[in-house]
Amino acid sequence: MSEFEFIKEIKQKFYHQSNLEKGIGDDAAVFNHSNGNIVTAVDMFVEGIHFNQQTMTPFDIGYKSLAANLSDMAAMGATPKYYLVAVSVPTYWQTSLVKEIFVGMKFLAKKYSLDLIGGDTVSGKQLTISITIIGQVNNAVRYRHLAKKNDIVFVTGTLGDSQAGLHMLKNNHRKYIDKQYYIKRHQHPTPRVIFAETLSKIPRIALNDISDGIANEASEIAEASNVSIHLKAEYIPVKKSLKQFTNEQQFKWTYFGGEDFELLGTVSRENWQKVKQVARKTNTQLTEVGTVCIDNPGKVYLLSREKHPAVLKKAGYTHLL
Ligand code: ADP
Ligand code: MG
Repeated sequence: MSEFEFIKEIKQKFYHQSNLEKGIGDDAAVFNHSNGNIVTAVDMFVEGIHFNQQTMTPFDIGYKSLAANLSDMAAMGATPKYYLVAVSVPTYWQTSLVKEIFVGMKFLAKKYSLDLIGGDTVSGKQLTISITIIGQVNNAVRYRHLAKKNDIVFVTGTLGDSQAGLHMLKNNHRKYIDKQYYIKRHQHPTPRVIFAETLSKIPRIALNDISDGIANEASEIAEASNVSIHLKAEYIPVKKSLKQFTNEQQFKWTYFGGEDFELLGTVSRENWQKVKQVARKTNTQLTEVGTVCIDNPGKVYLLSREKHPAVLKKAGYTHLL
């Protein structure tokens, strides 16, 4: 199949976004824009590093790659509108399988009326997918530098699921509790776009999406906002059946695992009820997990009943003496 035929096949039959002037088919895409802020991000996924064909089908690879980009939009409070996909395809990947990657992306894109408006297709040594996403924010942008003293720290969903799912996929012959659930959380994560959009009337919220583990993301908010974040270990939401794994695995996956694509945020106590209302309305699990302090700016603390408080580093932890 020629590149021309390939592009013709992945091109959408019709577009959802009414502001689009030109999608696929010219030197560049064109859309008009009147108000609000444009928000854009790019992410790259490389076979053997971010995914492999042993644990992910081409459909899953497409789905999850776009989900990761959508999660960045959610973390900014943006409504996603358009995406562009650059792929480099090695000779050992059949075109029909590459098309399946696009089927996976489009399946997820449709849920958000997101349009594929361009990209690039080249041959290369490794399968690489680069997705550029474009969205819009009309009200407040959810910067990570917006956390303030006494804010409530909250998280959506449950943590550690994705890495538990990956572990199950790698040990596929074994029996596990809730195996399908965990595998789905790894292969088809749900970006919290609707929840984040519905928060739009709340004036100030700091948000970050959990792509590298809560320890890392909390640390990014703490550094950007020049505050400390105190997390309560007992409050961190995990699925009950995560207990089937060793304490070490549970701890590692929950705090440093990543790829859950949940949201970590901070909001004033005054507006906490409103965040809870949005969670109910959008059917989103929401948990208060800690407080913003100013005792040691840039640091993340993990407090638990039995143990000494610990400083959570981006990828590890040290107990305080
Ligand atoms: P050009 O030579 O102008 O770069 P191309 O032949 O690379 O054009 O692409 C033709 C059209 O197809 C353009 O609109 C481009 O954005 C689109 N396109 C190419 N590859 C992809 C892809 N992988 N995904 C989406 N659109 C693509
Ligand atoms: Mg090109």
